[in-house]
Amino acid sequence: MSIGRLFGVNIVVDVSWLFIFAIVSWALGSSSGPFHAIAVTAGVRAVLAILTALLFFASVLLHELAHSLVARSQGIPVKEIRLFIFGGASNLTEEPKAPLQAAWLAFAGPLMSLVLALVCAFAATAIGMTEPAGIVFAYLATANLIVGIFNLLPAFPMDGGRVLQALLWAITHDRMRATRIAGRVGIIFAWATIAYGITDVLVQGFGGGLWFTFIGWFLLLSAQGEERQARLQVALRGHSAMQLAVPAAATLSADTHADTALKLMLSKGVRALPVVLGERFVGLVTLGDFTHADSSALENTYVTALMKREHDVTTIAPNADASEALAIMGKTGFHQLPVVDVDGLFLGFVTREGVIDWLTHHREPQVQAALRQP
Ligand SMILES: [Zn+2]
Repeated sequence: MSIGRLFGVNIVVDVSWLFIFAIVSWALGSSSGPFHAIAVTAGVRAVLAILTALLFFASVLLHELAHSLVARSQGIPVKEIRLFIFGGASNLTEEPKAPLQAAWLAFAGPLMSLVLALVCAFAATAIGMTEPAGIVFAYLATANLIVGIFNLLPAFPMDGGRVLQALLWAITHDRMRATRIAGRVGIIFAWATIAYGITDVLVQGFGGGLWFTFIGWFLLLSAQGEERQARLQVALRGHSAMQLAVPAAATLSADTHADTALKLMLSKGVRALPVVLGERFVGLVTLGDFTHADSSALENTYVTALMKREHDVTTIAPNADASEALAIMGKTGFHQLPVVDVDGLFLGFVTREGVIDWLTHHREPQVQAALRQP
């Protein structure tokens, strides 16, 4: 659900956020919350709790906005900022091109949180802890301090992991290697967090330790995913999208009827087929395009009426990097990426299955070594 725009950035609130908002509000308003010590009615306390929770999530939004505005100043378009159960995320469409840019982009968020913590601490001191406003600011100071420090942990997907990766990139001049080292540091860190959590559970019983174990496990999965991605990119280095492309099971000419196209796709067992005019790529038709169509009218419909048109299809140039093709598919969730040259000729698809197939059958020692390395 979109709630508006800030500095031209679309702000989206996920349904899961309402859940965490309710929990935070409830915790703030409970008898063990920060407002229990002052003499106010239960109604006023509830209002203060909700207001404080809103201000806290406004802080999270400012943290993300810092990332987004730095990204935009580097020429990286920002798709949206999303608030969800684990906090916030800035959805950037590209990665920074240089290590120092990447470091600054990752650091901007935690820096914003730490600055907010400082400002709120000053405000709390100035107002005094006997006033409700003083308590609100004191809470925000602590919360922002925790958000800032927690995000600086040197493990993916925390901002600190990205800062570490960028600094290693600046030192080694090798982005892939930096990602792998940072990923490994993240894995060690994740295991340490899990070990601490388990020890805490064994010594103190269930409580905070369980939470640490859970966070460690989450960090471990992210670090491993990030490392696998980096290893894959090393394996693909130096290869073009065309080298990984597989031919389409069939091509559809623009005057093909929709029912014929559907039958062909089902008989070939493919999700998508390219539509061509002569040899020119004019669009892509996927099984999903048929779900909106009236099934009785398919024989009177041309496939061009259902397909996604050329301009709306993400394609890749044959000489583009293979890892770029993979990155696009990872980001968009597409199963296949059409390879189209400058003259608009369809040359094949890069598909997930095709890439895995290529990697397993490729006997180049360098590729094998990159995949085998721990
Ligand atoms: Zn951040």
